[in-house]
Amino acid sequence: MSDQKKSKGLEEAPLMQKITSLCKRRGFIFQSSEIYGGLKSAYDYGPLGVELKRNIMAQWWKSMVHERDDIVGLDASIIMSPKVWQASGHVSGFSDPLVDCKTCKTRFRADKAPVVEVGSEVEYRASGKTIKGVAAKPYVCPECGSPDLSDERDFNLLFTTNLGPVKNEDSTCYLRPETAQAMFVNFLNVQSTYRMKPPFGIAQQGKSFRNEITVEHFIFRSCEFEQMEMEFFTPPEEARAWLDYWKDERFNWYVNLGCKKEHLRLRAHEDDELAHYADGCYDIEYLYPWGWDELEGIANRTDYDLRKHQEASKKKLTYFDPQKINPETGKPGHHYLPYVIEPAAGATRAVLMFLLDAYEEEPPSEGRKEGRVVLRLHPKLAPIKVAVMPLVKKDDWLTGTAQDIIKTFRKNSVNAFYDEKDAIGRRYARQDEAGTPFCITVDGQTKEDGTVTLRYRDDMRQERIKIEDALSIVNAKLLE
Ligand code: ATP
Repeated sequence: MSDQKKSKGLEEAPLMQKITSLCKRRGFIFQSSEIYGGLKSAYDYGPLGVELKRNIMAQWWKSMVHERDDIVGLDASIIMSPKVWQASGHVSGFSDPLVDCKTCKTRFRADKAPVVEVGSEVEYRASGKTIKGVAAKPYVCPECGSPDLSDERDFNLLFTTNLGPVKNEDSTCYLRPETAQAMFVNFLNVQSTYRMKPPFGIAQQGKSFRNEITVEHFIFRSCEFEQMEMEFFTPPEEARAWLDYWKDERFNWYVNLGCKKEHLRLRAHEDDELAHYADGCYDIEYLYPWGWDELEGIANRTDYDLRKHQEASKKKLTYFDPQKINPETGKPGHHYLPYVIEPAAGATRAVLMFLLDAYEEEPPSEGRKEGRVVLRLHPKLAPIKVAVMPLVKKDDWLTGTAQDIIKTFRKNSVNAFYDEKDAIGRRYARQDEAGTPFCITVDGQTKEDGTVTLRYRDDMRQERIKIEDALSIVNAKLLE
C-alpha cells in the first residue's frame, strides 16, 4: 500500500461518514430497503440525489450527444440475448479473484488487497493481540492484515435470471454488467440507419449490475449502479490519436463542472495491467478520502468486440469505405472493422466524487456565530438552482409574491424551491447544505420598491435586485 494511501486512509472515516450522514439527513441517498434493515449493496436516490444524478447525466449527454455531430444516442434493453455475453467473453471470463481471510473471515478481491513481499514478516491483530506471521502470498487481508488466506477462486460477477416461465439452462439470461455491448451489437443498425461514417460514436447511459465481492465506500462500488459509456468507432490508423483526444476531453469535462484539478489525474495503464485486446488505456482517477482510485476508464479496445460479435453472430460487421484504398488490391473501396475508443464513466461514482469535492465546512467567522456546511456544487449540477422565500410566512403579500417568482422560474425550467419554515438564517443554512447556489428573499422593502434580496451560496454576499431581473440574473449564472 502506498504511503499516500495509508495517510489518506486515516482521514477517510470522518469525511466519508460526514458525506453519508449528509446524504441521509438531507435526502440525497438512502440505503436500499432501509426499513427491513437495509441491503448493503444497493442505494436509493432521494429528492436531492435524483436531481444531482440526473444533472450529471444530462451534462454528459449534452457534451457527448447534443453538442456534437459525430455521436448519436442509444437506449438499449438491460436484458439481452445470452449469446451477447458468451461472445463478449463475460460468461466465461468476467470474474474477480476471490480470497477468504482465515483469521477474520473477510472475503475480498486479491487484486485490491494491500501488497507485501512474499516471505516478509507481517504483523496483524487477532483477538485483541498483535501477532507476527510470514507472507506466503503477495498480499494480506485488507481488514486485519493477516497473511493466513485461502487460495484464490474465480468468482463470476454476472447476475443471472431466467426469461419465461420455465427455469432451466435454456432460459438463463443475464443482467448487463456494462452498457457497452449494446453499442457493439447495434453498430450496424445505427451506422446504416443514421448513415454514420467512422469516426463516429454511439453513447448510452443506464443501469448495470455486477455481483461484486466487496461493495465498498458507500456508492463507490455497489452491485447495481449507473454508467455513462460511449463507443467511438474509428479507422484503425486513427485510433491512437482519438484515444489521446478522448482522455483529455473527458478529463476536462470534470474540471469544467467544478471538480478541483488537483484532485484529478490521468494514469496510463502499465503493459501488465492492460486487457489483452487493448492498445492503450487511461484511468481518470480522483483523490478519494482513501487515496487515488478510478473514476472513469478510457481504452482503445481495438476491433476486439466487433470481431468477437462478427464471429459469433456470423453477421458481417465491417464498414465499407468506397474511398479508402484496399491494401490488397491497391484500389479504392475497402471493407474494414473499425477500432473502438471507449470512455466508460460511472454516473453513480461521479455523484460520490462531486459530493466529496464540493463538501466544505466553514468555521464561525466575524459577524457569523455559527459555522456552516456548504456544498459548492457547480450551479449546473446543483439539485435546486434557486430557493425563493418570504421573510415571514404570516404576511400574505410576501408569500404570494414569492409564489409568483417561483412560477416564473418553473415556467422557464429552472428548478426552484419554496421555503417559508423557520428563521431565515436556518433556511439559508439548509440551502447551503443542499448546494443551492442562489436564494431570493421577499421582504418588507419589496413592497416599497419591487426589489428582493439575492444571496449567493459561495460567499454569502447579498444584493438587492429587481423582481423582473431575477430570472435573467440566475439564468446567466447557470450558463456561465
Ligand atoms: P473497478 O476496477 O473499480 O472494479 P472497472 O475497471 O471494472 O472498475 P469498468 O468496467 O471500466 O470498471 O467500468 C467503467 C466505470 O463504471 C468505472 O470507471 C466506474 O466509474 C463504474 N463502475 C464499475 N463498476 C462499478 C460498481 N460496482 N459500482 C459503481 N460504479 C462502477
